[in-house]
Amino acid sequence: MKIAQLEMNGPTTELEELKLVSSKYPVRITKYYKSLIKEKNDAIWKQSMPSLKELEDSGLTDPLSEEHDSPVKCIVHRYPDRVLFYSTSECAMFCRFCTRKRKVGKTNTVSEKDWNEGFEYIKKHPDIRDVIVSGGDPLTLSDERLDFVLSNLRKIKHVQIIRIGTRMLVVNPDRITDKLCSILKQHHPLYINTHFNHPDEITYESSEACNKLANAGIPLGNQSVLLKGVNDDIETMKLLMQKLLVIRVKPYYIYMMDLVQGASHFRTSVQAGLDIIEGLRGHTSGMAIPQLVIDAPHGGGKIPIMPDTISSREKGEVILINFENKHFSYPLE
Ligand SMILES: *Cc1c(COP(=O)(O)O)cnc(C)c1O
Ligand code: SF4
Repeated sequence: MKIAQLEMNGPTTELEELKLVSSKYPVRITKYYKSLIKEKNDAIWKQSMPSLKELEDSGLTDPLSEEHDSPVKCIVHRYPDRVLFYSTSECAMFCRFCTRKRKVGKTNTVSEKDWNEGFEYIKKHPDIRDVIVSGGDPLTLSDERLDFVLSNLRKIKHVQIIRIGTRMLVVNPDRITDKLCSILKQHHPLYINTHFNHPDEITYESSEACNKLANAGIPLGNQSVLLKGVNDDIETMKLLMQKLLVIRVKPYYIYMMDLVQGASHFRTSVQAGLDIIEGLRGHTSGMAIPQLVIDAPHGGGKIPIMPDTISSREKGEVILINFENKHFSYPLE
């Protein structure tokens, strides 16, 4: 990559910037999501429009060492009782901060043969009781192909629950059709975790999409990523979490940014994350408070982090700090 040269001359137009970045990381944005941009460099813009900063090469290509925990191509098996099922490399939009930047939108697609290997793997491992259908975005699959994946998973007796991870509700809510809902609800218990990062993403259209899914009996959860310049302040996050509950989506996780190559400019400090949780806890509904996690580099998995609520343990008592910073004691035993 001729970055040095480019910095000297400077890319003359945004189009040049776009071409340069997209040769390394594909660019795709839906018409709907683009329509939410109010001005250059707002929260919607930053998530979807390529930036030259992506070419700064710090970070890891596979920050979670997923390839290491992948026994067959479409499975990541890290935890004892659940697996990720990597269903496709396609997404409706390529989020600039994506952890799987190494994979999404690349030609290395997932075939039906890969899926079958995945089904076989799960069949052979009776401890797997939870399958997370992920990607890429599984809702880029046609209704028929998605039904095929879900039906095959459902045939496996020890699979108790299926979860779908999708950003489609946020970036292309029209995909949530009545037909899709009628297919999904045949595979209960089915959960959907989606990915709203900013209150501006909660629109009439995305609310309707959530409404349809919730009416099909699908519990909805949200996983946000803490992104510099997008949602790294308490007020934005609080508003997002509150608005999610209004559209019947339960905040599940906030992730600290993975150390993914090409997305370092989105990273925030750990303290910024802790401050947000502190700004939520006690100040708004407990229902609105997700768990803040770091998905540890090199395959350590998700590790929750939280602000201290215990100031000391002594003389048989624990001293607790409440949300107003007042101290209270409680017997240790
Ligand atoms: C996130 C993740 C899961 C699911 O974790 P939960 O904490 O149960 O939501 C499962 N497998 C892998 C590899 C993951 O990264
Ligand atoms: S939809 Fe998910 S997998 Fe696809 S680019 Fe965005 S964050 Fe990555």
